[in-house]
Amino acid sequence: MTWCATRDGIHTFPYETEVEAFCPEHGVTLLWHGPPITPPDLAGAEPHPAEPAGD
Ligand SMILES: [Zn+2]
Repeated sequence: MTWCATRDGIHTFPYETEVEAFCPEHGVTLLWHGPPITPPDLAGAEPHPAEPAGD
């Protein structure tokens, strides 16, 4: 289940498939590939390295 969060509140997407979710009321479309991100995935993520200063 995927949630559509807006300033009006939060609700489930009326339309949801394995690859996308769509909320016509708010004009929100979500697309994804692969399995959902889970906490363990985020735990192993590293922030992008800072860009080196110019010159
Ligand atoms: Zn919505």
